[in-house]
Amino acid sequence: MLKKFTLAASAILCLAGASFAQSQPCATDDHHHELLKKHPELAEYEKQFYEQLGKAAAKTTATGPDTTYYDVPLVVHVVHDYGDEFLSDNAIYQAASDWALAFVSANPDTNLVIPPFKKYIGNARLRFHLATIDPNGNPTKGIVRHFSYLTVAGSDQSKFDPWPNNKYINIYFTKTLGNSGAAAYAYYPSSASFMPYYDGVIGLYNYLNNSKTIPHELGHVLNLQHVWGNNNNAAVACGNDAVDDTPPTKGHTPGCVTSSIYDTTCATGYMKTYTSMSGVADSVVNYPDTTNAQNIMDYTYCANMFTIGQCFRMRTAITSTTAGRNNLITQANIAETGALAPMPDLPPVAEFTLNKATGTGVITDPRSYFLTFNNEGSFSFKNSSWNDTIDAINWEFSNGATVATSTGTGNVTNKFAIPGWVTVTLTATSNAGSNTIVNNRAVYAADTTPAGGMGYSQAFATEGDIPNWPMFNYYNNPFKWEFYNGAGLGDNGCLRFRSFDASARRTGTATGDFDDIVTPAFNLEGVTGDVYFNFFTAAASTSSGITGGTTKVLDSLEIDVTTTGGARWTKIAGVRRADLVNNGNISSEFIPGASASWAGRSVAVPVAHRTRQTFFRFRVRAGNGGNNIYVDKMNISNLTTDIQELAATGTNSMVIFPNPSANGCNLVFTTGTDGAVAYSITDVAGKVVYRAYKNFASNTRITEFVSRETVPAAGLYFVTLTNGGNTVTRKLVVY
Ligand SMILES: [Zn+2]
Repeated sequence: MLKKFTLAASAILCLAGASFAQSQPCATDDHHHELLKKHPELAEYEKQFYEQLGKAAAKTTATGPDTTYYDVPLVVHVVHDYGDEFLSDNAIYQAASDWALAFVSANPDTNLVIPPFKKYIGNARLRFHLATIDPNGNPTKGIVRHFSYLTVAGSDQSKFDPWPNNKYINIYFTKTLGNSGAAAYAYYPSSASFMPYYDGVIGLYNYLNNSKTIPHELGHVLNLQHVWGNNNNAAVACGNDAVDDTPPTKGHTPGCVTSSIYDTTCATGYMKTYTSMSGVADSVVNYPDTTNAQNIMDYTYCANMFTIGQCFRMRTAITSTTAGRNNLITQANIAETGALAPMPDLPPVAEFTLNKATGTGVITDPRSYFLTFNNEGSFSFKNSSWNDTIDAINWEFSNGATVATSTGTGNVTNKFAIPGWVTVTLTATSNAGSNTIVNNRAVYAADTTPAGGMGYSQAFATEGDIPNWPMFNYYNNPFKWEFYNGAGLGDNGCLRFRSFDASARRTGTATGDFDDIVTPAFNLEGVTGDVYFNFFTAAASTSSGITGGTTKVLDSLEIDVTTTGGARWTKIAGVRRADLVNNGNISSEFIPGASASWAGRSVAVPVAHRTRQTFFRFRVRAGNGGNNIYVDKMNISNLTTDIQELAATGTNSMVIFPNPSANGCNLVFTTGTDGAVAYSITDVAGKVVYRAYKNFASNTRITEFVSRETVPAAGLYFVTLTNGGNTVTRKLVVY
């Protein structure tokens, strides 16, 4: 009866765990094998490590039972995008103390272990503690937060700023993981010694304290294999884990069921013969004939125990020099990391984020950083301060905010009467002190005065030309929009998205990042016929296809439009990856040269989006195979860039766009065999206002920009081009 009762209880308990089990609980061995493939030299590290293991085993046997407790410092990194994965401090403290139980055999569910294994329940005598001193010697509560898009598809690249792996065990949490539906993975000490910067555990945030996922991964950190061996394929073939008291098994898929718990496959008749120290007499140990499905290193989620043999193996790993594990437990390190000190009472860390804009009919991006100053919607600011129990919050807002200051409440919705970048100041106070954050580019309240309409053109010649073009670097990283004054189409200025990774960093692939630049308002109300949003791009990739086992993702560019002042955006075009890359693979940082580096782009503006306040948005979605993207010579015209260029074929042809123009115009023509060109601009009275002689590459289409400063006065002009023995004259209207 007792047996039945115990079984029923364990089945209920574990089904709850299995109901949100990942298809594959752990991906440790996939990562390990991938690494061995990439770095065959790793095998040598492993050999050395196993030699040390052997020596340590011999020593302990000779000196009798080891009863020492070791303390181990931990640090938890939360890689987040302010969603549910922004785990609370208290949830982490609770989870960390729960993980620790399994390593001192104090987890209450050992009472569910079936009789044959009760006597094999091991006590690793390892005490895990969140650190109270960080690597710089400053007090900490053992939690670090990293705001990043790399919380999605978490991988080694998400392991930001690891603390030294011979002083702390780093545990990262992300929103999703990028591999085969696993809940977590870690590296064995042999792998970690080879690449200390990727050492530690990474897991899904919702497995923080689920089904002993983290104790399982800490088992790998301390060199435990799955009970069926070092692969990720449970329930496939009989195997063993180099630990005697875990019987051979195929392992089990998630699900805490009787057939798994009492499974005898592979284990029937399992016994081991040992040679004594003197090398003469044999002893035989008859281990259980049932597999140890309740082992933390199986996949069943009936994770109730480590065996004595596994505990010995973990202690061997943590007293080994491999990956500096033995330094973790030294008295000097325990003092340096404050592992045994009580958790300090520290002031909060002030932090805030944005929610969706609020207001009637407002459906926008998950977070809203751009709205017109008179928008029906409001910005929604969310307090995300942490590191202590917050007693008070104080907000201050610039730009004629509806709510200029706010005290004592968490979140604020707000509007701004003065256009421009808004400064937000947040002070969070706890019993231990205060912390203030000031962000002078928190959100952008856009002016609604149109910068122009049909015929508008923007040459991006100088940064001063674009005061009303806000650029958003959402994740505050090096992959971002900027004004660039080292290249351009027809001049030396343009916009660029810096996608090239110059740092060869071990963390921080651009894949998953996205950033925006928004235009000023344009008045397109009532415009009939064709309307095109035209611009030129120059882009390259660093590499494509599969490189070093990693599939390279190229950058893409999206054009969105809003007629509701940013409350709702509609995608009207996308320049997809291969299309965007018109300069091929360039391994160094790409900077466009001749006009041939540039490709014209034209996006039709649907009638529904032609209003008194139409804004456009360039959004780059960056990849890990991208290089820089440049944007130049934007205009709004009834002609596409293709037509503008096609019309400029042959030395007896020239196209001027936009025309009429208010902010400069482009002369497009194709050079002849010698590339020498002259052009002049004369007013209606015949006075030459500008004249140029230039040498270009031969037989090349040229886009020559003529700034408004060159032709300052409004009026009718004639542009005469002499090119390859031909002369052509066109009218130009400047307004
Ligand atoms: Zn595993």
